[in-house]
Amino acid sequence: MPEQQEPVSFDYYYIVTDKCTECVGFHETPQCAEVCPVDCCVPDEGNVETREELESKKSFLHLD
Ligand code: SF4
Repeated sequence: MPEQQEPVSFDYYYIVTDKCTECVGFHETPQCAEVCPVDCCVPDEGNVETREELESKKSFLHLD
């Protein structure tokens, strides 16, 4: 059974940064931000990752 995790907030949706690759390796731009009709996907300036870091995370999360 998957481990249960506490939500970051009950008032707002958050993207879990440990699981977000900014769509690197799949798309040219973050797809959630592309399709959001109210522009609610706001970059976290306190958690900026390099392309190399995102590619490494993508490789860890997704089997090639
Ligand atoms: S759609 Fe892409 S950018 Fe948005 S949360 Fe998922 S991996 Fe991150």
